[in-house]
Amino acid sequence: MTNYHLTPSQFREEGKKIIDWIADYYEKIESYPVLSQVKPGEIKAGLPENPPQKGEPFEHIIRDLDEKIMPGITHWQSPNFYAYFPSNTSFPSILGDLVSSGLGVQGMIWATSPAATELETRVLDWLAEMMDMPEKFRSTSTGGGVIQDTASTSALTAVIAARERATKFRSNKTGVREMLVAYVSSQTHSSLEKAIKMAGIGSENLRLVEVDEQFSMRPDLLHELIREDKKKGFHPFFVCATIGTTSSNAIDPVRKIGEICKEENCWLHVDAAMSGTAMLCPEFRYLKDGVELADSYSFNPHKWMFVNFDCNVFWVANREELISTFSILPEYLRNKATESGEVFDYRDWHVQLGRRFRSLKLWFVIRHYGVEGLQFHIRKHVEIAQNFTRWVKDSNEFEMVVEPALNLVCFRHKAGDDFNMALMNAVNETGKAFFTHTKLNGQVVLRMSIGQTYTEEEHVKQTWNLIQKTAGRMTQG
Ligand SMILES: *Cc1c(COP(=O)(O)O)cnc(C)c1O
Repeated sequence: MTNYHLTPSQFREEGKKIIDWIADYYEKIESYPVLSQVKPGEIKAGLPENPPQKGEPFEHIIRDLDEKIMPGITHWQSPNFYAYFPSNTSFPSILGDLVSSGLGVQGMIWATSPAATELETRVLDWLAEMMDMPEKFRSTSTGGGVIQDTASTSALTAVIAARERATKFRSNKTGVREMLVAYVSSQTHSSLEKAIKMAGIGSENLRLVEVDEQFSMRPDLLHELIREDKKKGFHPFFVCATIGTTSSNAIDPVRKIGEICKEENCWLHVDAAMSGTAMLCPEFRYLKDGVELADSYSFNPHKWMFVNFDCNVFWVANREELISTFSILPEYLRNKATESGEVFDYRDWHVQLGRRFRSLKLWFVIRHYGVEGLQFHIRKHVEIAQNFTRWVKDSNEFEMVVEPALNLVCFRHKAGDDFNMALMNAVNETGKAFFTHTKLNGQVVLRMSIGQTYTEEEHVKQTWNLIQKTAGRMTQG
């Protein structure tokens, strides 16, 4: 019988070449322009309009990967990538993900691969211990963790569970549905507004709480808003506090916000997407003070913890609330293990049914680095950010905008908004580094986000020199 598949031995041969290809890529990654230089449509124009009728040899695919795809890559894994927040990875993570692809397991319920469920439970309990998270977030207590694709999905999951709790798990039967109101700060990530829209709460029922001069939510104003809303007959049900906002890495006062949530009976979700990884180090844990008051908490190992995209950790204090919200049991998924109640079926913990075996890459990373190795690299990034801050403060032309809590430095040239934008574009166009901007108090601010796996102080020093030189040339010319 003929067929079109690769045999295992052909796979072995081609697979080794791909591993070599990836290793080569990392060896020469600094020779690429960090930000892809192509124009819109350029990559598509280089690809045939019609699919191949006949299969092609692997070497042709690899050749086109090099020639036609690589020019359109922005090199997120370059040590000179300082844009947005990192989306870093590491070799152990890549290998763990490869094993997951190889096994091709769909872990929707315990029975469809017990290891996929039980490794996830174990690794998320490890993480809770590694980060000194509250006991209630562990599977051995009332809560537990689940891996989701992104922080956005976790936000949606939290909002929906909060909505169901507020409406006694009978969403439209209690008459409070239309009156539900949620609270975030003016600096909260846009995924929360999106979640509020998608969960049917409606953007008009989302309140933006003002922030203080450090861009942290003002709990006094939160409380005032909640009280006013209650007087008007609204039903406050959800608050999101952020540990490390995307714009400036601001830290909301979780304890004070949590106390208000308890008093006013609101679900508290804590979004620690990037900065959550810092909780691996005891010296940064003060940033999560009060987290035991949270109903849910999420962070992205796919940002700063050397685990490749996608991998978001979502912890809840009370898994019954989550399961009551998301559990449906169709006949074709009925099975003994589920009915015994002895196992977790993670499809009951989130929106989708099917799920990848994502805990493998997390497990590979944690076992390879160990707690110590992870702490070492996180501390190094924070230290580099502190040094960068010192260089900015020592210069006459640049100034800091906020004191960095961790690894994001927000600074600007004193010559104004247009100059800062032109400076950023000029540096990015050299291809030697890539960083981005934000606006704080209406002013353009440059962001150096230091978290790529292989970023060393030397890279950041060179980038700082490049920024200074470029600015010097611009002020002369
Ligand atoms: C990056 C980020 C998000 C969104 O992350 P995704 O995983 O891409 O959805 C949400 N909140 C904060 C604070 C972030 O920094």
